[in-house]
Amino acid sequence: MTRDGSCDLEAGLKRLHLPTIRRMCGPVFEQAEKEGWTYREVLERLVAEEIANRAETRIKRSTRKAKFPFLKTIEEFDFEFQRSVRRQMLGRFLGPELVEEGRMLVLLGEPGRGKTHLAIAIAYKAIQGGYDARFTTAAQLLNELHVAAREGETAAALAEFVSPDVLVIDELGYLAYGPDAANSLFHVVDQRYLKRRPIIITSNKEPDAWGAVLHDADLADAIVDRLQENGDVIRLKGKSYRRRKAEVPAPV
Ligand code: ADP
Ligand code: MG
Repeated sequence: MTRDGSCDLEAGLKRLHLPTIRRMCGPVFEQAEKEGWTYREVLERLVAEEIANRAETRIKRSTRKAKFPFLKTIEEFDFEFQRSVRRQMLGRFLGPELVEEGRMLVLLGEPGRGKTHLAIAIAYKAIQGGYDARFTTAAQLLNELHVAAREGETAAALAEFVSPDVLVIDELGYLAYGPDAANSLFHVVDQRYLKRRPIIITSNKEPDAWGAVLHDADLADAIVDRLQENGDVIRLKGKSYRRRKAEVPAPV
């Protein structure tokens, strides 16, 4: 601040961490002068630019942190092809209620039916809504917890899966897991359940077969109970999207 009360705008905006206003004020002042904006309009425009830019940066950062294997949105999901799920049925998972009410979702189906796509799309909507998300496969999650236990770092590893607002556990049931699988998965599910934090699980196996996959029928039951108390199971049927082209009849 100088003695007459004015300040170096560039330096001041830098100090206040307003990089977008700093970048945009030149062009905005120019446009404002040409078009005769009021002071209020100028300020509103600059503040709006800063807010929009921050939101975009946050979404990018959260998306990176979520570790999605690929990014697909709900808008990219073809509900005409996958007719066993209606857009309407997903409504309650695509709004703030997902996190606010700690909804659980189990997506079941054979490969290529769109389970992972939908799980990612739902988590991404939550990110757009201001929350954070984490994607993992069941195998990765169990492996990480297994390694952490060996190194005495269970608490930190658990926190990684318990603290995000939304957790996706993909592909439960594809592999034969180790003997501590049921216990580890139960801890993650139970802690999230107690904190009312949503989980989205995809699987190619019906929940009543998870006992065999996890080598523990009682713990698998306890997991399924917690998922179902405030959640839905959606079964994706029909044909594999990956093979849709092969199934289009050849023109005659
Ligand atoms: P799953 O997890 O059930 O094996 P994915 O969600 O990985 O299947 O889907 C396989 C591929 O097909 C992905 O690239 C996904 O985006 C796409 N896909 C699947 N179903 C649809 C659909 N109904 N509309 C658009 N793309 C789809
Ligand atoms: Mg998948």
